[in-house]
Amino acid sequence: MKLSELGTGERGVIVKVSGHGSFRKRIREMGFVRGNKVKVILNAPLRDPIEYEIIGYKISLRREEASKIEVISESEAKKLLTEREALPAIETDDEYIEREMSTLAAERRKEIRVALVGNPNCGKTSLFNMASGSHEHVGNYSGVTVGAKEGLFEYGGYHFRIVDLPGTYSLSAYSPEELYVRRHLVEEVPDVVVNVVDASNLQRNLYLTTQIIDMNLRVVMALNMYDELVAKGDQLDIRQLGYLLGMPIVPTVSRTGSGIQELFDTVIQIYENQDPHLARHIHINHGAELEFSIHVIKDLLKKNTDLRYKYSTRYLSIKYLENDKEVEGVIEALPNRDEIISARFQEQKRIKEIFNSSVESAMIDARYAFVQGALAETWTPYQGKRRRTTITEKIDAFVTNRWAAFPLFFVILYLVFNGTFVLGEYPMRWIEWLISGVSSFASSLMQDGWLKDLVVDGIIGGVGSVLVFLPNILLLYLFISLLEDSGYMARGAFIMDRLMHKIGLHGKSFIPMIMGFGCNVPAVMATRTIENRKSRLITMLVIPLMSCAGRMPVYILIAGAFFPESAGLVLLGLYALGILLAILAAKVMSRFFKEDDLPFVMELPPYRIPTAKSILRHTWEKGRQYLQKMSGIILVCSMVIWFLSYFPNHDAYDNVKQQQENSFIGYIGKSIEPILKPLGFDWRMGVGIVSGVGAKELVVSSLGVMYADDEPVTDTVAESEPEEELDDSGADTRLQRALVKSVTPAGALAYMVFILLYFPCIATFIAIKQEGGGWKWAILTAVYTIVLAWGAAFITFNLASLFI
Ligand code: GDP
Ligand code: MG
Repeated sequence: MKLSELGTGERGVIVKVSGHGSFRKRIREMGFVRGNKVKVILNAPLRDPIEYEIIGYKISLRREEASKIEVISESEAKKLLTEREALPAIETDDEYIEREMSTLAAERRKEIRVALVGNPNCGKTSLFNMASGSHEHVGNYSGVTVGAKEGLFEYGGYHFRIVDLPGTYSLSAYSPEELYVRRHLVEEVPDVVVNVVDASNLQRNLYLTTQIIDMNLRVVMALNMYDELVAKGDQLDIRQLGYLLGMPIVPTVSRTGSGIQELFDTVIQIYENQDPHLARHIHINHGAELEFSIHVIKDLLKKNTDLRYKYSTRYLSIKYLENDKEVEGVIEALPNRDEIISARFQEQKRIKEIFNSSVESAMIDARYAFVQGALAETWTPYQGKRRRTTITEKIDAFVTNRWAAFPLFFVILYLVFNGTFVLGEYPMRWIEWLISGVSSFASSLMQDGWLKDLVVDGIIGGVGSVLVFLPNILLLYLFISLLEDSGYMARGAFIMDRLMHKIGLHGKSFIPMIMGFGCNVPAVMATRTIENRKSRLITMLVIPLMSCAGRMPVYILIAGAFFPESAGLVLLGLYALGILLAILAAKVMSRFFKEDDLPFVMELPPYRIPTAKSILRHTWEKGRQYLQKMSGIILVCSMVIWFLSYFPNHDAYDNVKQQQENSFIGYIGKSIEPILKPLGFDWRMGVGIVSGVGAKELVVSSLGVMYADDEPVTDTVAESEPEEELDDSGADTRLQRALVKSVTPAGALAYMVFILLYFPCIATFIAIKQEGGGWKWAILTAVYTIVLAWGAAFITFNLASLFI
């Protein structure tokens, strides 16, 4: 009987808990585990919740929750014992009854309720007949099974109660069959669902599977008509597909009965939770935008704690966003329904604007993208019979082709990066022009003094040096949004997946790493798309090794000075070194993470021509995040560095160089000199390193000041527009000449390696803290990159000293 039916003072032993996964988990955590004894403290009719005592604790449960728990009650046990042993009346020996209750509960647990769910014509009824030995009519057309048929049989010491449900293509509430199946799954909650799948028509059949996954039930897949798959010559990696879907898959041929025993063996294993690796609850990833909407609704639903016994809130949110009539009914009855209704309105409008289609069709696309991705990884249809029907399939045949995929991918990446820099030149100049205008306007307005210097050099100069990169960043985002929205990015991730797995990462890690070449901050933010926490963290931690655009000016300056003949080669070498070390670091780190690296599906959404609106929106959205994060931090850092290089002796020297040497930053540079000596750096290079902590762009400008010739240079040229030294060839060569005079080529090479690898920059540091969810990840990144930089620079310096 149900736990809710026990009266006050009655005792019982728990047989099993039904309901969806998260409900079962929560109830189990409260101690409602099979075999445990439970006593009713207070169960008054019409009173909710009911109070129980279990394993010595008092706990209240809602009536609905208690009705999902099956028990053997004291009276039931007595009655059964009287019948069985023909005893006149049971003497109330508590211990005896309790023992018998436990035995009866264990016996009762041997009953497993199974529901067959699948498309019409996939062989459910044949399977039902085979298993239960009955002779239901089998027809080769849909709609034969109207209601549900129930059959009973014994197998493996268990008593099976199996239900043949009507065939459906989906679990939306459109047709009576669909509604019927859904109600059965929600109300009756079978112990295990057997998802019967027609192996010769996987794409269509797995669509239904995605919806069963959403409901968070215990599922075993019967890969039926397996004979046809074999006959067609298709190849399917069943194990991997099972991993990806989070459920065990058993190939069956229900016409002959082969595989049916294995199927029910697996059902027993799932029912008994024998092997935790056999099944896991996965989430179908609907893409960032839809997932956001789902979360909005889900958070509102979660306020209603008594909703969760019956439905998974994620499932409800998805259905509600899809305008599901039945779920609408559920929501209508909630106290905070107004809030939820208006949230849905908002979200549907937002999605409509982005995708130019309804939430329903966006969800359908996402499910097919999931199925497509899962199959692309596991299924190779027999070549001769391969027929491509949709445009997406035709494009994919080329884009993911064994030979064409990688060249095409790299050509596209090259175009993106080149485009970013070539097109970015012009707006970059305008911004530079604008900043120098603002700067001279401010200096003409203000009186001489430290405040003016702070505003002009510290704030406008510092922030400006970063702001010039904004066009590049926005362009990069524009291209990335274009690739994302068209559907190509998913293919890029897909083809990189296998390679990335080799270093303990995931295909989806590739895009953020590539973005790292532009700027590490948005790259770190882009790791959000990686579901697996381990892969996400490792990706985040190695991104700083990808040489961002801010480091480029340093290379150009130094490589141009020391290795003018082979500057390009040096540049390439630095990028390659960064990539190589990122790979090594990822490999090493993946050893240290204990978490399982479970595979998940790389969705392959249909190709689509992106709408201008959604591209602009995505670009702006990312650009805004970047600006928000950067602006504050850069502002503060520029001011701090300005302060450190301005004080304490600003007015004591006419000569900038001497002044800098005797400023705070000069002191810092000198105090770290002993650490940098073995790398071939002097204290002035140390100052460059220290200021690069704020942003790598600042390295060149402080070097410009530190290595200024002894001949007097006016303050403004050296300090306020230092980044222009690159454009101004006179100043540039002067700085380069000064560098060549005081540093060895080996030291210069080591310096570039050091700049490439050490502490990313404050903004990236903060981004890692926020995305990684804790200071420890940011600090770890800082420490390991600095150690790595020192080590790599040391090796470079000593090796190079031998050869150059
Ligand atoms: P239902 O609509 O899901 O109940 O499917 P049925 O059990 O009525 O089967 C539909 C058709 O598929 C029948 O003609 C069956 O004989 C055939 N069938 C069922 N299972 C298999 C199988 O494993 N292999 C093959 N080749 N045919 C099967
Ligand atoms: Mg049937």
